Amino acid sequence: MSAQGGESTILIIDDNAETIQLLAAMVRDQGKIIFAMDGAAGLEMARRQRPQLILLDVEMHHMDGFEVCRRIAADPDLPHSPVIFVTAHDSTESELAGLAAGAVDFITKPLIAPVVQARVRTHLRLQAALQSLQGQASRDGLTGLYNRRFFDERMAEEFARHQRQRDLMGVALIDVDHFKLYNDHYGHQMGDTCLKAVAEAIGSGTRRPAEIVARYGGEEFVVLLPNSDWAALEHYGAWICGRVAALQLPHAASLTAPHVSISAGLSAILPEPGSSIEMFLGQADRALYLAKQQGRNCYRVAAEGAGSHGP
Ligand SMILES: [Mg+2]
Repeated sequence: MSAQGGESTILIIDDNAETIQLLAAMVRDQGKIIFAMDGAAGLEMARRQRPQLILLDVEMHHMDGFEVCRRIAADPDLPHSPVIFVTAHDSTESELAGLAAGAVDFITKPLIAPVVQARVRTHLRLQAALQSLQGQASRDGLTGLYNRRFFDERMAEEFARHQRQRDLMGVALIDVDHFKLYNDHYGHQMGDTCLKAVAEAIGSGTRRPAEIVARYGGEEFVVLLPNSDWAALEHYGAWICGRVAALQLPHAASLTAPHVSISAGLSAILPEPGSSIEMFLGQADRALYLAKQQGRNCYRVAAEGAGSHGP
């Protein structure tokens, strides 16, 4: 699905079946083609399929292409896929209106295959380069996980989305137990290797695309768990602790176990106008503190509402 690695997805939105067929035939070698025949269906398809490029008809009933393009630019739930307008109007005003709505390019009818193909190729390349740059800027150098800056951005977006959709979201704060003792005993190079292995175990454990796993601090990790209730958090907490323990990385200096272990604090929230991300993370942090107090190599889930969870 991504522009790196796999095949690109190209979404064609047009209310004319013949135009869709014509465009699809022209660009079929450049990616996987999906299409929609009106603006609303096109937006829904963009949300679900997250295309790398959208070819958008300007003249459509109900919702025209300008409106579709504006919504893509304004809606945080929609991927900011580049939009190329396809139109019968080749006036300067029409082109300017399209660019003002957020389009990256303009193709006028009659459609000429080499022109369409060249434009599509250019914008798919640009999009791939942009995604690669964004990917590098959002990653932690040591572990390859997302960095804290990226996590904070996504957390703000997800918090707002869950508030709009009135749904519970969860978060897990994870600490490697006695990591300072590990470094003292094995040295910093081994310490880095240990962090990479733990990061890999946590990162490869994500099951849904919206789950965000980030390195939060030195030996601290954070996992954003969208659409998760308390039962899901209990499940995740037990599972992630077991997953890291199962690595069986020796930790001779640990006061908790003969192997590297983690402690986790989890919390869920239904974001409301009065609630804040700080409060939400604070609850998870207190749950993490409790997990450490209760012997480490375990997890605690914050109680519904706030405060601590009874055993
Ligand atoms: Mg049309």
